Amino acid sequence: MDKKRLRHFETNAIHEGVKDPAWKGATLPPIFQTAAHYHETADSLTQAFSGKSQDHIYMRLTNPTNRFLEHKLAALETGAGALATSSGMAAINDACMGLLRAGDEFIASRSLFMSSYTLFTTIFQKYAIHVQLIDPLNIEQIQQAITDKTRFIYLETITNPGMEIADIKTIAQLAHSRGLPLMIDNTLASPWLCRPIELGADIVIHSTTKYLSGHGGALGGIIVDAGTFDWSQNRFTDFAPFVEQKGRLAFLHKVYKEIHINFGTTAAPFHSYLTAIGLNTLGLRMERHMKNAIKVADFLKDHPKISRVNFPGFENHKSHQIAKAQFGQKGFGAMLTFGLKNQDACFRLINSLDMILNIANLGDCKTLIIHPYSSQYASFPEDLKNKLADPGLLRLSVGIEHHEDICSDLAQALESV
Ligand code: PLP
Repeated sequence: MDKKRLRHFETNAIHEGVKDPAWKGATLPPIFQTAAHYHETADSLTQAFSGKSQDHIYMRLTNPTNRFLEHKLAALETGAGALATSSGMAAINDACMGLLRAGDEFIASRSLFMSSYTLFTTIFQKYAIHVQLIDPLNIEQIQQAITDKTRFIYLETITNPGMEIADIKTIAQLAHSRGLPLMIDNTLASPWLCRPIELGADIVIHSTTKYLSGHGGALGGIIVDAGTFDWSQNRFTDFAPFVEQKGRLAFLHKVYKEIHINFGTTAAPFHSYLTAIGLNTLGLRMERHMKNAIKVADFLKDHPKISRVNFPGFENHKSHQIAKAQFGQKGFGAMLTFGLKNQDACFRLINSLDMILNIANLGDCKTLIIHPYSSQYASFPEDLKNKLADPGLLRLSVGIEHHEDICSDLAQALESV
């Protein structure tokens, strides 16, 4: 019997892949801080270049520390393979570019992380690639957006900062019925809360900078390939050489060969090492993040100075039912947004906080707050800015401190509003 199959997620997050003889008994992956690897013979290097051996050549191509992280995250996301990248945006760019050609279309949620939104709606446009933005909760709209030119559907498990949760299983079925793969940015959920591949998704990406590393010390991204999509269908004739070489891992191989190594979106081994340390405590941290978020959301909801709280844990939230169905009893994510009267009130609150940090990040063990309108969305056109994050909106990434300390810091800061 395969012992590993009996293990729970939290256990695999710690033990998966750590008994590697090359580590010489170390329990954390050695940091292979070398730009290149020497080979004893010319033949050995030839074998590595031709893919006949798995030996390392040059850091932009592969690195043993990065390979460990790839192995571990493929296992935790129940995928068949993974590719580590320098950032979450590098993972999104690599994965999308591996699928897209000039003239292609793809479908994406209208409520996306700010840089993904910019990449999809303005940068890709320059290369004659068109994105169709849809409401992720409207299945009919997604269905109607599919054309002969569509190459994939892209969603975030929990949208940032919209807090919408799409029905991954239903959308995966729809995508497959039309011969399309489904790509999910699972950053805000983490594989502890949701494993999109188990729900039918074909590709999962993460900003590992967030919950996976967990301490705000490492930048990174990952692309996980489920290895289940049939790339030999008509829509993907350009995948033929990669299907021939790598079969079910054709997508990951195409992304690697065409985009990753040529654009140089390589992960830094030190950052992969830090992320690997973070993964050891992922289960424990996520459990606390989820519990704290519910407590903090309840506190904010009842506060007289707060006009609205957007948190899928509330029974009347439009994504509450699907969150329960997809995430079980585990929680509703650890990010929420809430509203004050105007920008001035938001600034007063931020400036009065004692412990909670004003930071452009999320998924850290520390509680973080940001005023998206004046920071991340500052350069967006006014009407779009207002749609995504109006001047009275604050985004809170709930950390793993004691929940009473998070609430009491918010309470004392709200006094100055
Ligand atoms: N995806 C989501 C949902 C994010 O929130 C972020 C960053 O905040 C990214 C992707 C991009 O990640 P990175 O900053 O690691 O490039």
